[in-house]
Amino acid sequence: MRAVNTIAWALACRLFEQGGSTLEPALSDAERQGLARLIELKAAKPHKLDLRFALCPYCELLRGPVVQGEYGLTCQCPDCGSVPLDPRDTRSWTLEPEWVISKLRAAFEVPPQQGHVSVISGIWRIGHHHQHPLILARSLDHVLRHLASIPRASTNGTSPPWLITPKPLRDVDVDPFGGALDWLPMEERFTLYGGNLQFLAPGATPIATAAVSTRAVNGPFSADFRAVHLADWPHGQIRLSDAQAAVFKALWHYKGKPQSAEIIMNKAGRGSTKPIDVFKVKSQNKGEVDYEGPMHAYRALVTTDRRSGTYAMRCAANVIA
Ligand SMILES: [Zn+2]
Repeated sequence: MRAVNTIAWALACRLFEQGGSTLEPALSDAERQGLARLIELKAAKPHKLDLRFALCPYCELLRGPVVQGEYGLTCQCPDCGSVPLDPRDTRSWTLEPEWVISKLRAAFEVPPQQGHVSVISGIWRIGHHHQHPLILARSLDHVLRHLASIPRASTNGTSPPWLITPKPLRDVDVDPFGGALDWLPMEERFTLYGGNLQFLAPGATPIATAAVSTRAVNGPFSADFRAVHLADWPHGQIRLSDAQAAVFKALWHYKGKPQSAEIIMNKAGRGSTKPIDVFKVKSQNKGEVDYEGPMHAYRALVTTDRRSGTYAMRCAANVIA
């Protein structure tokens, strides 16, 4: 139950940052479990889709016209031909910002008479906590682009504002605002429990969250793919960089089916040409556990077919849901 909550909250943060709607087939199997939880909590709502076109469930790359076939709906993929559509292939979801706002307000025990306002699109003032104005934003970058809106968002506070945003995929300075406000990354500072959010105060060691978030839930990987557990690695869990986590997550998505480097790196959203590029150990780091660990994981988990130039991660093929 706890693990599902962790996945659900990580997904909620991602969908909140993204805004708009997300197609269900674009989610991993674990994320779909998280989605089910978010639907149950009424955090995610169905989004009306244009049913004339759908993402091909086979290649998950191209869109094709939807046609009523003999046994139900099919997608006419330009590459794969006629592919049957599962009803869930055509569903898409949006995360309700109102849900995030109300749960965060509850976590900080903001009294109802303190309202919440939209400062600009994607930035809200959601109340005060111990004199700290609470600012919620869709992303850290959105705030950095609209810094002028921060003083407006933090009126009536005598203490530095607290800024709540999802954690970006890239590495970020712990203090991107040089002390002018305290940043609370949503994934680290809050946990979803019993349908509500719990706040972990800055300065408090989030031991419980750390223990949960690095637990293996996607095969040997943690929910966010930043940690991997391998029995043959004697130095404990292997911590991965953002780029390495993104590559493993992309490989995981293809469920053990071999894919070209281009498809995987595109899915991972990384500029490198080949998956191994982000794992290579520079000569000055040779022999260091922190650098050798991810490379060890890559060699242990990823199968390369040199002839066809494809990559696959077998452990993603037989996932117990
Ligand atoms: Zn296709």
